[in-house]
Amino acid sequence: MQTWMIGGTTVTRIEEQIGPNDFGVDAFLTGVDRERFERHLPWLVPIHFDPAIDKLITSNHSWLIRTDRHTILLDCCAGNHKERPWLPRFHRLDVPFLERLRAAGAAPEDIDIVLCTHLHTDHVGWNTRLENGRWVPTFPNARYLFSRLENDHWNPDIGDRRQRNPGRAAMYDDSVLPVIVSGQADLLDGAHAIDDRLMIEPAPGHTPGHVLLKLRDGADEAVFCGDVLHHPIQVHEPTWNTRFCEIPEQALSTRRRVLEHCAERRALLFPTHFAAPHVAAITAQTTGFRPDFVAPGSRR
Ligand SMILES: [Zn+2]
Repeated sequence: MQTWMIGGTTVTRIEEQIGPNDFGVDAFLTGVDRERFERHLPWLVPIHFDPAIDKLITSNHSWLIRTDRHTILLDCCAGNHKERPWLPRFHRLDVPFLERLRAAGAAPEDIDIVLCTHLHTDHVGWNTRLENGRWVPTFPNARYLFSRLENDHWNPDIGDRRQRNPGRAAMYDDSVLPVIVSGQADLLDGAHAIDDRLMIEPAPGHTPGHVLLKLRDGADEAVFCGDVLHHPIQVHEPTWNTRFCEIPEQALSTRRRVLEHCAERRALLFPTHFAAPHVAAITAQTTGFRPDFVAPGSRR
């Protein structure tokens, strides 16, 4: 079990998969300077980069966040049995994700909040599961939180989107629409306090309605940043986006703002795709920042 403590809050990583990205480094990162990249090889290889195939290693996991009031699942990976032929890594998965969630001590019925930082396919998958040929909410007692702006960005029934991008529409139909139809979705406008410890804030750029979650428990703080950063190389090189950052300039400024916040507040960074040990403290440097990885079980 991979668990971190933030004050009295327990944070557990629930893995869906970890391995090489579908894309080579130059195709995945935009604006990458290969000479600068090579300087990082001593710490990148072998955990964060596989030089033999020139691919970054990324994880796809959810964060199970347990306070004395809430059991939250943050980001929902790619899910099982979804048709994603354009993304081989997420196509027709059959992964014991819910078994891993149970092993961590949480049954689907125990989750009271699901938070999707954004509505990309690798963050909404476990929102739903297949039951008798229908997509139904996986977490029957949960409120599903995501931004209204993000929902409007993806809703395929605006204009001719459904005709223009059937794959995107299918993703929305199988992983987002069922939780709206069931009445379990709460669309957020701007910042939203879950309680006095947990605050959802806009973090746009990767997608227009991307949000992050800040946790403050006693003297300890954490930021669950979704895809504000994909890979730890971006801590050192915050001007490198990924091909999936939809508003590049805004993605850069949000990334820098989040890294500055973590450095100033000594808040631990919990991204959705960093390989082991998945979590880092952030220190500001002359240019960029430095990740100091924090192993599960250790305190700062
Ligand atoms: Zn992602």
